[in-house]
Amino acid sequence: MKVVLPDNSELELPDGATGRDAAAAIGPKLAEQAVLVRSNGHVQDLRLPLEDGQKIQILTTRDKDDPDALYVLRHSTAHLLAEAVRRLYPGVKIAIGPPIENGFYYDFEFPEPISEGDLEGIEAELQKEISEGREWNREEISREEARRRFEAEDEPYKVELVDTADGDISLYTQGDFTDLCRGPHLQNSKPIKAFKLTGLAGAYWRGDEHNKQLTRIYGTAFYDQADLDEYMERLEQARERDHRRLGTQLDLFHLSDHSPGSPFWHPKGMVIWNELEDLRRRENGRRGYLEVKTPLLYDVDTYVTSGHYDNYAENMFFVEQHEDEKRLALKPMNCPGHMLLFGSQLRSYRQLPMRFAEASTLHRDEPSGTLHGLLRVKHITQDDAHIFCSPDQIEDEIFACLDYASYLYDLFGMEARFELSTRPEKKLGTDEEWDFTESALRNALDRRGIDYLVHDGDGAFYGPKIDLHMTDVLGRSWQMGTIQLDSQMPARFGLTYMGTDNQEHTPYVIHRALLGSLERFIGILVEHYGGAGRG
Ligand SMILES: [Zn+2]
Ligand SMILES: [Zn+2]
Repeated sequence: MKVVLPDNSELELPDGATGRDAAAAIGPKLAEQAVLVRSNGHVQDLRLPLEDGQKIQILTTRDKDDPDALYVLRHSTAHLLAEAVRRLYPGVKIAIGPPIENGFYYDFEFPEPISEGDLEGIEAELQKEISEGREWNREEISREEARRRFEAEDEPYKVELVDTADGDISLYTQGDFTDLCRGPHLQNSKPIKAFKLTGLAGAYWRGDEHNKQLTRIYGTAFYDQADLDEYMERLEQARERDHRRLGTQLDLFHLSDHSPGSPFWHPKGMVIWNELEDLRRRENGRRGYLEVKTPLLYDVDTYVTSGHYDNYAENMFFVEQHEDEKRLALKPMNCPGHMLLFGSQLRSYRQLPMRFAEASTLHRDEPSGTLHGLLRVKHITQDDAHIFCSPDQIEDEIFACLDYASYLYDLFGMEARFELSTRPEKKLGTDEEWDFTESALRNALDRRGIDYLVHDGDGAFYGPKIDLHMTDVLGRSWQMGTIQLDSQMPARFGLTYMGTDNQEHTPYVIHRALLGSLERFIGILVEHYGGAGRG
């Protein structure tokens, strides 16, 4: 059989040859340094057979910054961590240990709680394994046999994982430690040149708070000591810039258990807040937005019409009422109010586009485990607007939103990234409608000369969207605003305008927030400037 290499040359191999065999056929050095096969964007273990005609790329220890190469290195280090912990803490139960962005973790149920101080001892044991050297062996076995093995080892979490796994069961063994795992893994532990255990946290088994709380050990690993040093330096900078720390130091805001996830803004914090409000108001005025103010509380019927009741109720706060009164809930978004406002009068094509802007308080009941300073709150204030327009106005309005967003990010020295999400499988509306709306968004992006990523199928069921991300000075990426086209909500509210043909038409609406939430934006600003407060 033949496989195709990245330079499009073909490599002749015996049938059933593996990635490792392919590497060896090219050269002994490559065979030694190989860590992974990548094929059409998917990663494949070196031990698995290749197919005739398969396009392959062999990643090696020299691809030290490649995310897939780092992924396999870190996943392998997680297995070494589990081996070390099992040796040091007899009776410990192991759960799961995946690689994550910037590192890996492993969840354990310890017989006695451990503390940060214990990480050093675990690191030493892990270092010992690396010094001794470990090789990974892969085997595929039946579900019954896997179950028997993990029952014999008294590993109830692994037994549960075997019972709920889809497809074939594979195991990886290094030293005397065997883990249930799909892989891929390194050939051996030699490429792990630098690692560090970075912290401890509590984590519920399978992320469910009704389950037992396990201990999560976080770590990271690199192909090169200098890369780990640089990473630790960046972590330290991030810690120093943490907006929760700086928020207290600079006396900007505080958070309290008396109102979880809702910041108390101090006078100095309000100076920043009001600057943003002024900026928003001034630019909105310049760009033809109309400032409006809509209520915080609505009856349940409104949320049934908007779709929030069916799709978002678990994140909403319902308000206790006297028996004879209608049930009310706090708005989690401004859209329902703006729909009602638009529908309160007869509208004509002459009034379109109509751009309602409102930065009012929204409430979203985020699970307390996900709250994070100003970055994830229950009480949020978006620089929100809804633009009602006719189909032929969509492209220009999207263009104007992109222009506005670029203006704002430039102002703060932030580098923006734009991502377009297109029709999902489950969608409302016809393919012709989607062709039309997607091309309006694409045209607007192209006209502004913006390079953008496309996520096929990631749009909302009611329309395509453009998400705005930015990268801060530490190279971290944040989602900021979003520009979302919607043909459904205006129809659900029965909104119409009189067209030039004297007929009633349903307007489109563009939901857009550019800074995102003011709370989150200030949190990001504080970290971006490291509290330096550049004018
Ligand atoms: Zn694994
Ligand atoms: Zn909206």
